[in-house]
Amino acid sequence: MNDRIEKAKAVYTRLNAAYGIPDWRPHFEPVDELILTILSANTNDRNSLRAFETLKARFGGDWDAIRTADLAEIKEVIRVAGMYHQKAPRIVESLEKLYREVGAYSLEHLAEMPVEEALDYLQSFPGVGHKTASIVLLFCFRKPTFPVDTHVQRQSQRLGISRAKAAPLEVKRDWESLLPDADFYSLHLNLIRHGREVCDARGPRCAGCVLRSLCEHAQSYTAG
Ligand code: SF4
Repeated sequence: MNDRIEKAKAVYTRLNAAYGIPDWRPHFEPVDELILTILSANTNDRNSLRAFETLKARFGGDWDAIRTADLAEIKEVIRVAGMYHQKAPRIVESLEKLYREVGAYSLEHLAEMPVEEALDYLQSFPGVGHKTASIVLLFCFRKPTFPVDTHVQRQSQRLGISRAKAAPLEVKRDWESLLPDADFYSLHLNLIRHGREVCDARGPRCAGCVLRSLCEHAQSYTAG
């Protein structure tokens, strides 16, 4: 039996035991999820959600009104999410693209699209990389793609699931090759929670970590 597969399964199982198996449910409409994820870059969930809710409230939830609004007003409304000079035009350009290519503010056509094609399509939106594309596809359509953010990347490297310097796309491919599609949603959410609560970037709390016996970082630390 492949040791990496065994380790990946053990990580999945232990995190489920620690945090539970989250039920899959669509959090938002796909376009909402796309815009929210654009807002979430380099900030915390609280600030990005606040910016998203303020944006929707200011324009009555009307994407057409947001697409045609003054850019300065959008920047002001989403300011709390940070990087608003980049995020505001990305939001408007994304809505422009939907308006132009789909004729509606909808991503429902992705439901029938093969996952790799849908990933490519979403990554053709301004500023959308494979993390954002995977979040939209996994969270809204339950498509088999594994989103890798900074928490997931860090822990995958420390555990030895991925190489120490593996880029996010390599980490994504590692997990996707090691675990069944049905595990991606739970693993993604639980790794993020574990990264926030235990496997901190600067000060991982290895002593009480449920993954410690699986972790290369902790073992090298102990050996040292
Ligand atoms: S043992 Fe330490 S480094 Fe390894 S996953 Fe747990 S907290 Fe992170």
